[in-house]
Amino acid sequence: MELIDSHTHLDFPDFDADRQALLAKSRALGVKRMVVLGVYQRNWQRVWDLVQSDAHLYAAFGLHPVYLDEHRPADLTELAGRLTRLAGHRQLCAVGEFGLDYFLETLDRERQQTLFEAQLQLAADFQLPALLHVRRSHAAVIATLKRFKLKRAGIIHAFAGSREEAREYIKLGFKLGLGGAPTWPQALRLHKVIADLPLESVVLETDSPDMAPAMYPNQRNSPAHLPAICSALAPIMAISPEQLAAASTANACEVFNW
Ligand SMILES: [Zn+2]
Repeated sequence: MELIDSHTHLDFPDFDADRQALLAKSRALGVKRMVVLGVYQRNWQRVWDLVQSDAHLYAAFGLHPVYLDEHRPADLTELAGRLTRLAGHRQLCAVGEFGLDYFLETLDRERQQTLFEAQLQLAADFQLPALLHVRRSHAAVIATLKRFKLKRAGIIHAFAGSREEAREYIKLGFKLGLGGAPTWPQALRLHKVIADLPLESVVLETDSPDMAPAMYPNQRNSPAHLPAICSALAPIMAISPEQLAAASTANACEVFNW
């Protein structure tokens, strides 16, 4: 079974003690390629240095809405500069992580929207897919995406929306990222939604070190858990783990042009 982890934060200090061993273990389990996402200016170089150390790691750079108060206008300029310098590099795979977070009420929505649109424009300009964080903000994200009409679309990471929202994203060309959240038995609403998703719209992810799956509760999440996540989600979708692995790998390859 070959899997791609389409969303990780493997540069985080959580992995400093055993990163190489964990990469080796994940590869042995079939998780060969992994995407590492930048979330603020101060981790971009760390992300790039990490992916440069391993030919099967890929980088995305973005300004995550949860860190809104840390981002400065100059960061957007630096993001554009970084994308310009790295344009065409095989290990630059997307713009992200960015998006809208309406769950945390302290985050100014107008400033989030401005930053969201600026990064959508960068994804369009550099013809890269967008890896999006969407929390309690599907209506605003969908309305914005309808205006931007990104040619390469991207991934709605950790999708937990409704059937209707899924349909809108799919119409816009987006894939839906599934990871630890729907492995929990109490995620009944989400189970119903993912049971109906077209197989060609699904990609797997862990969001390591976050979003621990039900099989490894209260632990640091890691790409080595992706095969177990695949095996837990496949029956909900009434398919075999092999089918889900093959489809999600093909879908991720389509998003990233691999
Ligand atoms: Zn993330």
